[in-house]
Amino acid sequence: MKIVVTGGAGFIGAHLCRTLAATPGVGQVTALDDLSTGCAANLDGSGAGLVEGSILDTGLLRSVVRDADTVVHLAALPSVPRSLADPVASHEVNATGTVRVLEACRETGAHLLAASSSSVYGASTALPKHEELPARPLSPYAASKLATEAYVLAYGAAFGLPVLPFRFFNVYGPLQPAGHAYAAVIPAFLDAALSGRPLTVHGDGHQTRDFTYVGSVAAVLADAVLRRVTSPDPVNLAFGTRISLLGLVDQLAAVLGERPAVEHTPPRPGDVRDSQAADARLRALFPDAAPVPLREGLAATADWF
Ligand code: NAD
Repeated sequence: MKIVVTGGAGFIGAHLCRTLAATPGVGQVTALDDLSTGCAANLDGSGAGLVEGSILDTGLLRSVVRDADTVVHLAALPSVPRSLADPVASHEVNATGTVRVLEACRETGAHLLAASSSSVYGASTALPKHEELPARPLSPYAASKLATEAYVLAYGAAFGLPVLPFRFFNVYGPLQPAGHAYAAVIPAFLDAALSGRPLTVHGDGHQTRDFTYVGSVAAVLADAVLRRVTSPDPVNLAFGTRISLLGLVDQLAAVLGERPAVEHTPPRPGDVRDSQAADARLRALFPDAAPVPLREGLAATADWF
């Protein structure tokens, strides 16, 4: 079995490449990554190969995808603030890039898994977020991920391509970068706490998130690859747990053995208030999925720091 992971040198991609390369029956794993936010060192010792280049390079993409059984499409500019700063760049990579990946898959009939995002629920206040809710994007990033999954589903419907679009929620774990303006909340908190700085909470801290450990995401994706799972609808990839950011600070305090200081700043535009996945669709397709509990995942992440 030959697998291509676009964005495979990134945070989630590198975990997936490592998981796949260690899976019996998987012959070759190739990451296609332009290293814009990913890093070649993430793949050191993983057993996966790296082709450095962009999904926007049609010739390169075709040659990499040519004999792949499955393509896991994770390459994207993955940040709400980044998309507010440069919406066109987000659109080009996340929307146009997805169409290019789909075109390459269409030529060969490859099975395609793709990463959309819980951000597509946006302004919807219903909880938990089930996949039938109308999408209400609050940022160019969210709109570009909605385009990602819409194109994936359209290629499934129009061309019979075997596809499965996932909506990832807040994924965290080792390899997730900290210390830059677009850092996700858990690495940003850990980075601050371990350097003795206060944790920056945007808004009142009562906003909630459904955090998923990266190993749990990689396990579901690998299972989907091996069993060639498809879906005519998007599938949330999170397990329906919800915690406030202040609750997360409590969990971190327990893991670190001391309570970090917190400073509040104004809420950020484009951020959603509450997030929690409905996981019925995921559970139906992946009945054996066993998510890593938050405390355990935080401890593994803190160890990596
Ligand atoms: P990441 O930035 O670590 O990974 C994205 C990878 O894509 C990087 O390695 C980057 O170099 C690569 N890339 C960007 N543009 C490219 C291009 N034009 N050609 C080839 N490679 C390119 O981020 P991540 O957190 O691992 O995200 C993976 C996917 O999951 C993304 O599609 C993201 O939108 C989605 N997602 C992530 C989360 C999360 O919580 N981390 C939540 C929802 C959705």
